[in-house]
Amino acid sequence: RIAYVNGRYVAHADACVHIEDRGYQFADGVYEVCEVARGFIVDMPHHLARLDRSLRELSIDWPVTQRVLPLILREVVRRNHVANGLVYLQVTRGVASRDFVFPAAGTKPSLVVTARKADPAMASKRAENGIKVITVPENRWDRVDIKSVGLLPNVLAKQKAREAGAQEAWFVDADGTVKEGGSSNAWIITRNGVLVTRPAEHGILRGITRTTLFEVAAKLGLTIEERGFSVAEAKAAREAFISSATTIAMPIVAIDGVPVANGHPGSITLSLRQAFFDVAEKSPA
Ligand code: PLP
Repeated sequence: RIAYVNGRYVAHADACVHIEDRGYQFADGVYEVCEVARGFIVDMPHHLARLDRSLRELSIDWPVTQRVLPLILREVVRRNHVANGLVYLQVTRGVASRDFVFPAAGTKPSLVVTARKADPAMASKRAENGIKVITVPENRWDRVDIKSVGLLPNVLAKQKAREAGAQEAWFVDADGTVKEGGSSNAWIITRNGVLVTRPAEHGILRGITRTTLFEVAAKLGLTIEERGFSVAEAKAAREAFISSATTIAMPIVAIDGVPVANGHPGSITLSLRQAFFDVAEKSPA
């Protein structure tokens, strides 16, 4: 079998994209599958129109011109001798050093095309017998408690933050409560000096740094309340901060353009940050 990868037709077994392709690291890409029947690619213009829309919505450039892509699809079908089967194409934002925000302009999107034979008699047989379905709850994708690489919503949120001159975006529930950041947990400190962060039972990722900060807070004699808090409460808080492995406790000075307290990093957050490495478990690197 032959695959198309970024301008080259290569043996399917050797076809690969780089480990820092954003499709691999963030699910930052789109795809189409077309049926191939009796040597024809079925509904191709409609698939390419949807691809164009998907690319536009994610601000990913076309990896080749719109005129050239059908030629590549046909060539992959031809080289694989597919009369009946499918042709698959995938476009990702390309290869870049891992960072949620979009890479620098000029990063080339990746294009991969494969084709596979299928037995039309099998499909006819299946249609004769019919199929069975089961039902599942609609939860695409509420399993944010799993640290999965399905990070496209996080990518788009953090890109939006970048474009607004911010460094993080907080996801907010329909009822106005803050869940967590695109790549961090969310905290506030009340006027009374109580740390507040959302429970990690469900709806957020249980951050390792978050858990260690519970110990740090205890050591500093601070109280933690695990509960939801609203955006309004956060804007009126004494301090606010984010936590993650790479930011530790990072003070927030503004939320949606509204300064938190006097608009300067909070002293309790900075003391948590200071004390963090005394408490954190250290393994030799
Ligand atoms: N929440 C999300 C969505 C994250 O992606 C991350 C880290 O990347 C965190 C929270 C913080 O987790 P940790 O402290 O384990 O880095």
